[in-house]
Amino acid sequence: MKILVINAGSSSLKYQLFNMTNGEVLAKGLCERIGIDGAITHKRPGKENFEKEVALPTHDEALSLVLELLVSAEYGVVASIDEIGAVGHRIAHGGEKYGCSSLIDDEAVAYLETIIPINPLHGPPAIKGIKACRRLMKNIPQVGVFDTSFYSQIEDFRTIYPLPYELYSENKIRRYGFHGTSHRYVSAKAAEMLNKEPSELKIITCHLGNGSSITAVDKGIAIDTSMGFTPQEGIPMGTRSGSIDPSVIPYIMKAKNLSADEVEDLINRKSGLLGVSGISSDSRYVEEAALKGDYRAQLAVKMLANSIKKYIGSYIAEMNGIDALVFTAGIGENSDMLRKMVCSELDFFGIKIDEDKNKSIPRGSAADISDECARVKTLVIPTDEEYMIALDTLNLCKEQ
Ligand code: AMP
Repeated sequence: MKILVINAGSSSLKYQLFNMTNGEVLAKGLCERIGIDGAITHKRPGKENFEKEVALPTHDEALSLVLELLVSAEYGVVASIDEIGAVGHRIAHGGEKYGCSSLIDDEAVAYLETIIPINPLHGPPAIKGIKACRRLMKNIPQVGVFDTSFYSQIEDFRTIYPLPYELYSENKIRRYGFHGTSHRYVSAKAAEMLNKEPSELKIITCHLGNGSSITAVDKGIAIDTSMGFTPQEGIPMGTRSGSIDPSVIPYIMKAKNLSADEVEDLINRKSGLLGVSGISSDSRYVEEAALKGDYRAQLAVKMLANSIKKYIGSYIAEMNGIDALVFTAGIGENSDMLRKMVCSELDFFGIKIDEDKNKSIPRGSAADISDECARVKTLVIPTDEEYMIALDTLNLCKEQ
């Protein structure tokens, strides 16, 4: 079966078409600046890319163009849209309803609309993407794969905040967790690499990219995660502060005379690596400056490594052990410097990496970077959320 994976953002629409017989990516691309002016990049492995600035007033026009390209004589990869067996949608938030991937029908769309208040940034564009696909691909099953669903089995004493209980029962304020599809994918891959069943393993997965989160996976089930009610909680990120003393927020609002939106912008877009270093949100530039001796860049990198270390320690305590530590996403897969800083002086827990292996991972490859004498395996695994979405979509469609 061929499966189209859609990831709709507020002004973008990413897509990948998989042939699930062999997992091959037939085509992928990105529609950008939807609702502004518009551009598309359409790629097929080993072939010339198609790039064009083109008016894309809404997600409907963007998807129409994608479908046109997928069947076009020049840039197409299928003879007809009917060859696409199903569409899998990346949906950041499934609220409390979706503990696993699910077929999207009218009722599902209606539910996703009800949880927009707790998912104001990612909810509306995801719904637009779903509606566009349902309109333009009428008879093709649509599946939602939710970033939050991997966390549906986390126990309530780990998800409910120590606030007045009514804020949970009435307003649904609790930890939901994000990046679940990535953590689920790499934890399953780790078990495969170690030739073990997930049920035999205690794994800590570190998804370190522009947004970052850490998850404790015990016997294949996520038992805790660093992101919370929003993707703001947890470790410092490219531009997000991660966890801070909550009283800092009202203090800054009063001291700097900032509105709620302004302070939200400050902690979401002006903090983290960018805010501390004053250089960039991109860890490559921050690391480069740190190596040249820039104090604030060093501070940012040390802060990030230390925060990751603290989560690793606390998750080892929560799981009463660890068998494997996994690094993934842009920073996790590419920064040997950060991996080395995180793993230094963790030998008490049995975590020790081989410095040569850590430095010589071919780009895009999975690798075991553990020292020979380490009790815990340290793995670098490229994430593939789109493939995971396609796989869930396939499995759900097979069940129907
Ligand atoms: P992602 O959100 O997973 O796409 O990750 C993007 C981030 O990965 C970038 O903003 C960089 O901070 C980081 N990154 C990518 N390549 C490298 C590298 N070679 N060294 C350090 N960080 C990197």
